Amino acid sequence: MTAHQDDFFEQVNRYFDEAASLTDYPAGLLAQIRCCNSVYRFDFPLRRTDGRIEVIHGWRVEHSHHKTPVKGGIRYAPDVNESEVMALAALMTYKCAIVDVPYGGGKGGIKIDANLYTVDELERITRRYTHELHKKSFIGPGIDVPAPDYGTGEREMAWIADTYAALNPGQLEALACVTGKPVTQGGVSGRKEATGRGLFFALREACQQADDMMALGLPVGIDGKRIVVQGLGNVGYHAAKFCREGGAVLIAIAEREGAIMNPKGLDEDAVWRHRRDTGSIQNFPGATNLDTRAALELDCDVLIPAALEGVFTEENAARIKAKILLEGANGPTTPEADPIFRQKGMLVIPDIYANAGGVTVSYFEWLKNLSHVRFGRMSKRHEETNERSMLRAIELATGRSFSEEERNQFAKGPDEGDLIASGLEETMVNAYHEIRNMKLKTPQCPDLRIAAFLAAIHKVARSYAELGIFP
Ligand code: GLU
Repeated sequence: MTAHQDDFFEQVNRYFDEAASLTDYPAGLLAQIRCCNSVYRFDFPLRRTDGRIEVIHGWRVEHSHHKTPVKGGIRYAPDVNESEVMALAALMTYKCAIVDVPYGGGKGGIKIDANLYTVDELERITRRYTHELHKKSFIGPGIDVPAPDYGTGEREMAWIADTYAALNPGQLEALACVTGKPVTQGGVSGRKEATGRGLFFALREACQQADDMMALGLPVGIDGKRIVVQGLGNVGYHAAKFCREGGAVLIAIAEREGAIMNPKGLDEDAVWRHRRDTGSIQNFPGATNLDTRAALELDCDVLIPAALEGVFTEENAARIKAKILLEGANGPTTPEADPIFRQKGMLVIPDIYANAGGVTVSYFEWLKNLSHVRFGRMSKRHEETNERSMLRAIELATGRSFSEEERNQFAKGPDEGDLIASGLEETMVNAYHEIRNMKLKTPQCPDLRIAAFLAAIHKVARSYAELGIFP
């Protein structure tokens, strides 16, 4: 465990305190917002396939009950520790507040390297973890709703949903106990891509602000922006994909084993397949190999950390040449690195806003599970029929007739994926302006991160006010 992970919760609270100092809320209220409401730590045995017994260490933290359920992913990683899970749960509270998703923050973790276990062992670990949560009422559609995080995905979420449903026979809303499930198991179209797509919307909106781009010496718009991505997992892969499809050029990708660069542009899908087939990102045709550290320090317009926390420290911050830092991971920048970034005039789009696309679409999935109907099911054909009538009226009025292709393009009732993507876009665009305006109207606010914390603190404080806890 490295030093930064040891006190990750403390680091998040340093950001909180800096933002809190710009408010005049009572100290007790701020202390209530900042603390972790419940921390559940537990151990259980796993019988490995070879017969050995191993003790598995798990956590679930509920940071804030100002709104329920609490929400946040479950991480499987060898370095998981209590401070980390607490920090990540706290970040979830602020993240949900920023994008107006009506949850408190939570997070879970299991201290394992998922690559070292068989699928069968992982299934037993996940189901047992769910049992442990259930025993203490740390899971449920109205209590605490986990989701994927580093080291987990749709498969684990399906096991959790199935275990919970088995423990609660007949509970109508049981599927809403976890999000990030496969679409066939109650998931929603677009959840898997959501964090990456949200990062793209965040970047696109940032690049549309002429004043901010001028200050960075960059042209307006995402088109042609040179991007470096660290981490080719679900978040990094989809961020790269949407940004590239949106006009950016992916000049380098970094992974644990090393990095590759091609100034003419890389295709994340081809790189992903190359890594799957060869076991390494390196030696990709047409690209140059370099080490991960060097990739982070490349001259580029946008750097997207999409792996774990604590990547930028006082040791390397000064060498980062990116103009924009788009935080896909949670906590990639330490409080020591931030002032260096500010001094360099970088635009840091902070994690608690930038990667909120995941929980936003999780919210949509939860709503779908509670309503038991696919988004668009009732309205798709109705909208299509109305649009076709409109096209017909235009044809009659103008004498021009539309081709079948135009008709299909203009009269298309939205399906679930379309609605999810547009709900996500609306959320990310609005929230960007909310935090940008917060920074502009708060003279002592140094950057978007503190502005985002400030916006979150105001919203959580308002909830407590509505509960009558302070006037
Ligand atoms: N683990 C993701 C995050 O850090 C998603 C959480 C969720 O969907 O609840 O934001």
